Amino acid sequence: APSGRPLRRLDQSTKLQNVLYEIRGPVLARANQLEAEGHRILKLNIGNPAPFGFEAPDVILQDMIANLPSAQGYSDSKGILSARRAIFGRYEVIPDFPECDVDDIYLGNGVSELISMTTQALLDNGDEVLIPTPDYPLWTAATSLAGGTPVHYRCDEDNDWNPSLEDIRAKVTERTKAIVVINPNNPTGAVYSREVLQGIVDIAREHSLLILADEIYDRILYDGAVHTSIATLAPDLLVMTFNGLSKTYRVAGFRAGWVVITGPRHHAAGFLEGLELLASTRLCPNVPAQHAIQVALGGYQSIEELVTPGGRLYEQRQATVAGLRAIPGVSVVEPMGALYAFAKLDPERYPIKDDRQFALDLLEEEKILITQGTGFNWPTPDHFRIVILPPEAMLERAIERIGDFLQDYTQE
Ligand code: PLP
Repeated sequence: APSGRPLRRLDQSTKLQNVLYEIRGPVLARANQLEAEGHRILKLNIGNPAPFGFEAPDVILQDMIANLPSAQGYSDSKGILSARRAIFGRYEVIPDFPECDVDDIYLGNGVSELISMTTQALLDNGDEVLIPTPDYPLWTAATSLAGGTPVHYRCDEDNDWNPSLEDIRAKVTERTKAIVVINPNNPTGAVYSREVLQGIVDIAREHSLLILADEIYDRILYDGAVHTSIATLAPDLLVMTFNGLSKTYRVAGFRAGWVVITGPRHHAAGFLEGLELLASTRLCPNVPAQHAIQVALGGYQSIEELVTPGGRLYEQRQATVAGLRAIPGVSVVEPMGALYAFAKLDPERYPIKDDRQFALDLLEEEKILITQGTGFNWPTPDHFRIVILPPEAMLERAIERIGDFLQDYTQE
């Protein structure tokens, strides 16, 4: 029988105090509510290719289905060997990619799980991680949740969103353990040159920093942009290179990611043991999705036709940039990779104080969902990100409506 005693109040843990994930935050919650009320919402907030008709190559699905009967049990904690061998082969052919072994490859439920495992295994309270601003916000959130302190280094919009080496240098302290490099970048679409990457490696070398290389967009490149894996420039440093099937192979829902560890290990035995321990405690990643990796990396699948002129992603990127630039007071650096445009609102013309409110107002008025710049740990309320995944005509229309909305938008 009920005791009549009041139930204890349950708050979220204080560990979550600095954990933000606005891409799926309160603005999305409001969008879902509006949808439930019968409104059609154009969701330009999440880099989720499949719902926009970017479907996975059929052989990936067929192979996964064929393997389903043998995917019923748990796998090795690091993942199935055939997938790790395929990943090994993927990196083996990259010129100058440092030597590694299948044992240095861990699979995860998306890159996301591996980011969490890495930060948890690495950080003590107060340990610092250098993270770009703007960033893919999971890096900041996971660092905070693990007790670490995210320290943001500036990417410079006036220099094609390249990281400021000067700012990175200025922000290294005794407590800095690692530097996160997201290349190609989400949200800016920047693809870093060898020189910039070399500059980052030099700093990492000087201060003995672990390099955390998030390269999930490394095959989504436009206009002849060339991707350099930062590990190729740092064979003498511990580098963790993250990637997966979510973007290039359009199966974000499968949750299939990996990390490849290269460089010297002797100084990092403790950390690597911790990583292995955490891999064991999650038992293993989703096994059916691991079976998609070998066929995806088999050499026949390509995203080439989508990112070259005439291809959907290429044309949608062109339309996005042209559309945004046609709005008075809006500018954008052309993305050279990935699936996003990070647009700037001239603060003189659009004096926005609260950009989450801006996103909410745009949603209410136009039923268009974008993500505000501060959601990417950008310090000022003067940017927003849209994904370039919807068909061209839909994107054009949406951007026009954003332009119309802006013309008489004011914030109290
Ligand atoms: N890293 C970056 C830069 C991303 O943009 C994303 C997803 O948007 C992820 C990691 C997470 O990807 P996954 O689906 O592999 O968890």
